[in-house]
Amino acid sequence: MQTRNPLRRPRWTSIALVSALALPGLFTLLALLGTPAAPVEAVQPPEQPINSPPAAPVAADDPVLLAAGDIAACGRPGSEQTAALLDRLPGTVLALGDNAYQAGTDAEFAQCYSPTWGRHRARTRPVPGNHEYDTPGAVGYFGYFGAAAAPPDKGYYSYDVGDWHIVALNSNCSQIGGCQIGSPQERWLRADLAAHPTRCTLAYWHHPRFNSGKHGNDAEMQPIWQTLYDAGADVVLSGHEHSYERFAPQDAAGAADPERGIRQFTVGTGGASHHALGRPIANSELQNADAFGVLKLMLHPAGYDWEFVPVAGATFTDSGHTACH
Ligand SMILES: [Zn+2]
Repeated sequence: MQTRNPLRRPRWTSIALVSALALPGLFTLLALLGTPAAPVEAVQPPEQPINSPPAAPVAADDPVLLAAGDIAACGRPGSEQTAALLDRLPGTVLALGDNAYQAGTDAEFAQCYSPTWGRHRARTRPVPGNHEYDTPGAVGYFGYFGAAAAPPDKGYYSYDVGDWHIVALNSNCSQIGGCQIGSPQERWLRADLAAHPTRCTLAYWHHPRFNSGKHGNDAEMQPIWQTLYDAGADVVLSGHEHSYERFAPQDAAGAADPERGIRQFTVGTGGASHHALGRPIANSELQNADAFGVLKLMLHPAGYDWEFVPVAGATFTDSGHTACH
């Protein structure tokens, strides 16, 4: 799962020092393993076991993304709980669609989304979900987010954060001329990726390509995944399924590919409700269906750390790190 090899990446030597200083228990662990405690430079950072407490930040000045979808439903407390996380976390906010229930109307954005996640609208880069299109043309969504949401006939756009290229895509394929190879969005994506040959690339859209939940896999986004894979992209984020799921890196057909594959996180945990998950499909590494929270991604020049940050009172978490291709 954690594909980074610290011995090949000198950058992590200093991180090992920070981790050792921040985690006195590491020395106890090393003693138990019979590893000499000195020199410190030889200490490898410990792998992050699943469900372990999050590690101390290793490079506090690297940029951060904070992501979740399926967010604000008036009368439910979840979106205020996740907005309280945003209140204390710096970073660019990715709203992964189904941002305002039930239909993304003007009134629902004003009365349900605006008082919670709307506190962070100025640093939010959204994508539309299917519920936004329950209002024809998703005009409530495009009206609320304005220029940040890209032209209403598209809803896809890209930008850079630190050394990373970030691509926001629209998985409501029937609304934008399809998602097949040669569709307007796919042609735009291919050109955009060619114009931004960064080492690290992340894309996000609402409907998960891979999904152990009741909605199942979204095959319509397979060509988009293929285009991202061909360009060497690293991470995809989605929502729609009201749960958290992390996958191992995969190709567009869903085959494990630790060398070139894209790692998907489903983060439908923004506060609306929860869906029970089914039996994990291939390459699903971790699932949770009862914690609201946001996924925090720290974007390093050659890799990323992830951490699921649960709302107050929830205990589920997840963290790890992977190098970019
Ligand atoms: Zn949805």
